[in-house]
Amino acid sequence: MRTTTYCYTWDLARLGVETTLDQIAGEGFDAVDLAATYHPIDAVSPRDGFELFAEGRGAVYFPARAERYGAIKPRIYPSDAITAAWPRAADHAAKIGLGLNSWTITLFQPWIGDLDRRYARVMPGGGAQASGVCAANEDVRAYIAAICADVADQFGVGVLRLEAVLPYAHDFDWMRPRVMVMIPAFARMLSNLCFCGACTARGAASGLDVARIRATVNAVVGAAVHAGADDADRTAALLGDAELIAYAENHVRASIELVTGIGEAVGDQAVLATNVGNPYRALLGEARDDALVGEFLDAVGQIDISPTDPEENRRVAALNARRTTPHAMSTLCIVGRHDESVATAAQRVSSRGVNTKDVREEAGLGVREFTLYNYGLITDAEVRIFREAIARL
Ligand SMILES: [Zn+2]
Repeated sequence: MRTTTYCYTWDLARLGVETTLDQIAGEGFDAVDLAATYHPIDAVSPRDGFELFAEGRGAVYFPARAERYGAIKPRIYPSDAITAAWPRAADHAAKIGLGLNSWTITLFQPWIGDLDRRYARVMPGGGAQASGVCAANEDVRAYIAAICADVADQFGVGVLRLEAVLPYAHDFDWMRPRVMVMIPAFARMLSNLCFCGACTARGAASGLDVARIRATVNAVVGAAVHAGADDADRTAALLGDAELIAYAENHVRASIELVTGIGEAVGDQAVLATNVGNPYRALLGEARDDALVGEFLDAVGQIDISPTDPEENRRVAALNARRTTPHAMSTLCIVGRHDESVATAAQRVSSRGVNTKDVREEAGLGVREFTLYNYGLITDAEVRIFREAIARL
């Protein structure tokens, strides 16, 4: 089994680039997944003290070359010591035979929405999000393709691990969310639809009555929230709403287009890896959703799964197995070691993480690469738990 570990550039810079990579290689990891871009974060590292790193709008963490970009220029984190960790890591990893992957956050980049609100994802009600940008926007796609090509071209990475290329749940990682009402499952899925300028233009170009679709979505979501449940008759009617289904497919296709564009920009310089599930299965139906996942599989070279959705993982693994040449599969592993009485919400999520049952099930799906989250955020004890779980496979 291959193992890799996620790592933040700022942790490498603080802990010592060469020393830390030596330690990672010495513990048996085949590669490090180093953050090239990152979303907003307040992260505590327990290594060599108890250190907070905080960044409020997301940034780029390597010396990106501004002249290679179009309308959106990279927002490089203002610390030469931190961004210089990337070239240093690339040099040293090559020297010691440790693989180097680029951990690349794509659509969850609030700073891009700060540049121009037209890049932001827009809720059905019209509110532009402060956290996510939309893959349907061509400037956004061009920027993400350019940043991926820039990191691959400068440093010769093995895998470009693309995070957040899909239309995630509408409230994924909102900052300080205030949602006091329950949104029932089907309405919640409809809330994921984006109505930014690019998405509505695509809808119109596809011959769809976008204003009607939007009014339908708002009416159904509003009614479901007030009733506290999805309405079975309305849901049944929407399953036959060809325009609504086409609009949802367009949203997913924008992400497929994003990944395809990255592939064209990067060429054979790196393998593209990402999660390929999408949120509209209950609307699209199994056959259409499987076909869309198939298109996604065509756009990537490797599949990343996570322990949070075992059912989706089984489905994707089955579709992958039907390919003439199935892609390699990799899984995120989170090691929990928490006192439940004082655990934060994030820690409770992580306590569901790595255990022998999870990794055995994933290995059974064909996963041969296990990726530990994340070197700077955990101690040597968590690394040992991870290594022992993998050794037992
Ligand atoms: Zn959009």
